[in-house]
Amino acid sequence: MATVQLTVSEIHDLARNCLSANGCDDSNADAAARTISSAERDGASSHGLFRLPGYVASLRSGKVNGAAQPTAHRLSRAAIRLDGDRGFAPLAIEYGIPLLAAAASEMGVGVLLIRNSFHFAALWPEVEALAARNLVGLACTAHTPMMAPYGAKRAFFSTNPIAFAYPRPGTDPYVFDMATAAKARGDVRVAARDGKPVPLGVGIDAAGNPTTDAQAIVDGGFLLPFGGYKGSAIATMIELLAAGVVGDFFSYEAADADNGDGGPAIGGEFILAMSPELLAGAGWADHSNTFLHELESMEGVRLAGQRRFANRTLTGPREIDAELVDTIRDLANP
Ligand code: NDP
Repeated sequence: MATVQLTVSEIHDLARNCLSANGCDDSNADAAARTISSAERDGASSHGLFRLPGYVASLRSGKVNGAAQPTAHRLSRAAIRLDGDRGFAPLAIEYGIPLLAAAASEMGVGVLLIRNSFHFAALWPEVEALAARNLVGLACTAHTPMMAPYGAKRAFFSTNPIAFAYPRPGTDPYVFDMATAAKARGDVRVAARDGKPVPLGVGIDAAGNPTTDAQAIVDGGFLLPFGGYKGSAIATMIELLAAGVVGDFFSYEAADADNGDGGPAIGGEFILAMSPELLAGAGWADHSNTFLHELESMEGVRLAGQRRFANRTLTGPREIDAELVDTIRDLANP
């Protein structure tokens, strides 16, 4: 693959210009561009510029409101409902996190329920923003079905991601951010392209039979949750939090509402924040840090999030797929 070198700031500008040229106002373009460039900065390229053509498709089809103005409604001292105004999630998240942080810092616990918004990114930005305020964060969302529940023969769940961040004052937080699918769809596609098998448990074929044939999964088959029925239970919980508690679309409902433009699907996001200072009291940071230090000191263990944090320290340009950059430049000149 031919690549070009772009600094994080150039990546941001490339994304921002493309979003602006396709109907985003300044605040929406900036927020989405920050999410995209921070993914590239952290080496999470599956949620960086690679997503931009999808963002543009949903602006051009009129599905997403590029001039969205999120509004917040306080349901109680601990619960905030945020209407994303049919915009991309990054602006809604940036608007809602300070409100959530204030609620959780006062009450010990707070929830942010984002409705009417389109999530097309990784979830670590929102939970890390809470950890940066010394709060524990947990976030989850859903999109459209592509994963079969344990025992089923057809898709019902999206790949339902969940992220968790635990603050460690003075150093990077502990963060995991993962889909509940056994393997990302992109990885299965790569295996299919290379003629390689995938482990049993990754997917089923179009007839619903378990298979190691990556091509059969790609050709009308479906992904499976990680860990069999246990992952299926976590994916169920995510649907119930992001749609049931938030009051937005379950994955199968979001599919019915979608216009198939290849961009993100409408959906809800559930974000929980907790204040360890209030809940555990003084000494929480040292106590938890000792635990995490013991964990990371074990042979063979690395903490989730450390790969991204190591990438984040790199100051040089990032290698970006040259063909993708050309596509984005074309999209910026509609
Ligand atoms: P991965 O399987 O690559 O990683 C999941 C988590 O495990 C990460 O926190 C990662 O940390 C950690 N990890 C990976 N390897 C190790 C290891 N050897 N030891 C310890 N920890 C490890 O991610 P997924 O493919 O499941 O998901 C990728 C992204 O896709 C996520 O950001 C998710 O939010 C996003 N997503 C978004 C959706 C949406 O609708 N918006 C839908 C589905 C997924 P590290 O990053 O440091 O490697």
